[in-house]
Amino acid sequence: MHPHCNRCQAELDPSSTSSLCPACAGELSAAADVAALRAFVDGIDAPVLLMQREPRQVVTANTQALRMFGKDLSQTEGHRGGEVFDCVHAFTPAGCGKDVHCESCPIKTAVLDSFATGAPSGEVQSRLTVVKDGASGLRDMQVSTAQAAGLVLLRIDRYDAV
Ligand SMILES: [Zn+2]
Repeated sequence: MHPHCNRCQAELDPSSTSSLCPACAGELSAAADVAALRAFVDGIDAPVLLMQREPRQVVTANTQALRMFGKDLSQTEGHRGGEVFDCVHAFTPAGCGKDVHCESCPIKTAVLDSFATGAPSGEVQSRLTVVKDGASGLRDMQVSTAQAAGLVLLRIDRYDAV
């Protein structure tokens, strides 16, 4: 099976490590501000967070992701990924990615790997303890990550209550 562009579904060169076709990658690189980045991710037919490297936080999210997590942009942009997922370890004093529980977080590892190597990660599974509106629960989460234009696209394929 040939990989396809995450955004426009164009067939990708099988040797490509990008999740985007050259046209979409070019469009992402050319996005001049957050509004343009929002418009870009809204063209992806899956819940997606766009992550930046330093500090590692969410640049923006598409409408499908906001709906999935029940958040608005102000609760998403500039926040850590785990805060958007309501991960219980995101609200410790150390915070998302820095708490002792985060050392083995598969989602964090996948994002870091994509930043470090440019290589995509697929079907990354994690079971999260979440706290939402004072109630705790478990979520089975599956994501994929890929670097594009110096950012990482974090696609959420599952976020199911256990
Ligand atoms: Zn494309």
